This record gives sequence, structure tokens and C-alpha cells, in this order.
Amino acid sequence: MGTSCRILAVADPEDEAAAQGAVSAAVAEIRRLEGLLSTWIDGSEMSRLNAAPAGLPLEMSEESLTVLRASFEAYRETGGAFDITCKPLIELWREGAKENELPTTGAIEYTRELSQREHFEIRDSGVVKSQASARVDLGGVAKGYAIDRAIEVLQDAGLSGGLVDIGGDLRVFGKSPEGGSWPVQIRSPFTSEGVLATIAVTDAAVCTSGSYARFSEIEGQRYSHIIDPRTGMPADGLPSVTVVAPTAMRADIWATAISVLGNEGLEKLPEGFSARTVQGSALRMSGVTTPGFPPERN
Ligand code: AMP
Ligand code: MG
Repeated sequence: MGTSCRILAVADPEDEAAAQGAVSAAVAEIRRLEGLLSTWIDGSEMSRLNAAPAGLPLEMSEESLTVLRASFEAYRETGGAFDITCKPLIELWREGAKENELPTTGAIEYTRELSQREHFEIRDSGVVKSQASARVDLGGVAKGYAIDRAIEVLQDAGLSGGLVDIGGDLRVFGKSPEGGSWPVQIRSPFTSEGVLATIAVTDAAVCTSGSYARFSEIEGQRYSHIIDPRTGMPADGLPSVTVVAPTAMRADIWATAISVLGNEGLEKLPEGFSARTVQGSALRMSGVTTPGFPPERN
């Protein structure tokens, strides 16, 4: 997935060997899912879906179907703000950054037509595209799903606690090494090393999206790697969005979605989710924290 991963297992000293085994199994599970979901891997299921012609049903694993179903459900819930089918637009903006040239309005409109939610239909155990050029990018959801599956591996091993972190998105369960809740740092969007806050998290996932993590520069302007599928333009509202949710897949999805929707999107957050956003600049920073967001710890 082009990023680093951190796994912690909490166990009694006499269970150390079993804990080590659980960590190895969790790593193997993440690698296995990467082989199905990553569009950077040529033979992956998602790459095969992207290369598929129109009208030909493609059999897919239950794991791939789960991520696709959740993503399309989120498309509906967010009014199209979360849209895994905007891959050609993502590539158009990436190309613009490489050439240091803004895409034209015409190119944006044309590219938007190439791939849309409506071009994909999930049938029992497979997916059919109605247009060959339609393609998906799971960059906003796959890490979260992999975190959930790795957490499941750790839980099945009977550990007293654990943490799985992929590229800064994470989920914890049970006891931390100190015995209580887990301290989770939220990075500042404005400095590479700074920490905005450390929150106390119990049995939940914490995912952060934002322009600080990855952005590109075109003609001296910074552009987010998150695209607003409704306009075809990079999202520009919020430098950082952190979502806390029961599962990492849903936290990952919603952090990306709120980055597109802005603070107005916070009303759409599902029951039991909470969020903290940052807006403004390093000198004039503000933001919104919704009820239920974990408390800060010192
Ligand atoms: P995240 O870091 O989880 O916010 O995911 C950002 C990644 O999701 C981007 O690098 C793209 O691969 C993909 N992406 C960009 N815009 C969207 C969008 N509007 N909906 C879904 N995925 C997106
Ligand atoms: Mg995300």
C-alpha cells in the first residue's frame, strides 16, 4: 500500500510466543489483502476490474466485494462526495502536478465522464462494468479495511490488547501496554513533526485525512490529493479531518468524505462516530470537534 505499518500486541509474559505468532499472522493478512485490493499491483483483483471490458461479469473475492459494497454505500450516504470511481480524475491531477500545468475545464469534464458510480453493478459474487473506461481507486478505504482484518486476527488470538496502524490510520482494542486506554497522537496539519493533540482511545479506530499528508504543487499552488468528485477539483476546505468510529474502514471512508464536504458534512456522520477538523492556517487555526470525540490526555 506504499506506506509503513505498525502492529502492537499486549499479552502476559508467558504468552509472548503466541503474541509474536499473532503479529506475524496479522502482517500476512495485510499482505494478502494488499494483493487483492491494491491498484498498484498489476495482477490484483482491483487491477483486473479496472482493466475489464464492459459487459463481462468478473468474479471477485468476498473481501473485494465487501470493500466495494461499503464504498458504494458511502457514495450514497455522502451524496457522491466519497467516490472510489474518480480514479481517472485523480490521475489527471497527478499528471498536472508532474507537468506543473493545471488541467483545463474541458479535460476535467471529459475525464469525469470516463468513470462514474453508475458504471459499476455488483451481482451475487461478481462485478460488471457498463463502460470499459470506468476504474476504481481504493486509496481512501483499503487501509481502513486491512486494519480491521488485522485487528480481527489479533483478537482471535486471545490477546488482552492490540493496535494496528497503517500509514497513520489505526484501530485499537482492549488494554494498552500501560493497562488503560490507548494514547493516540493527532498530527498537526501545518508542521511535519508537530502534534496537535494526544487523545485517549478505547476499542475504536482513528483515521485522519488531510492536505498535510500528501499534496501536490501546480504553478506554485498546493492541491490536495483528495478530489471533489462533484466538481472534479481538488478538495480545498479542511487541512485535516480526524474521524473516530467503531471500524477503521468506516473511519477511513468518513475522514476522506468530510475532507470533501467540509464542516457542513459533519451532520451526516453516522450515529456513534465523532470527528475533529482543522481549518485555517498555522497562524490562524480553528476547527470543529463533535460530541463524543475522545478526551485529550496529557
Ligand atoms: P485518505 O488518505 O484516506 O483521505 O484517502 C485519500 C486517497 O483516496 C487519495 O489519495 C485517492 O487515492 C483517493 N480519493 C481521492 N479523492 C477521493 C474521493 N472523493 N472519494 C474516494 N476516494 C478518494
Ligand atoms: Mg480515507
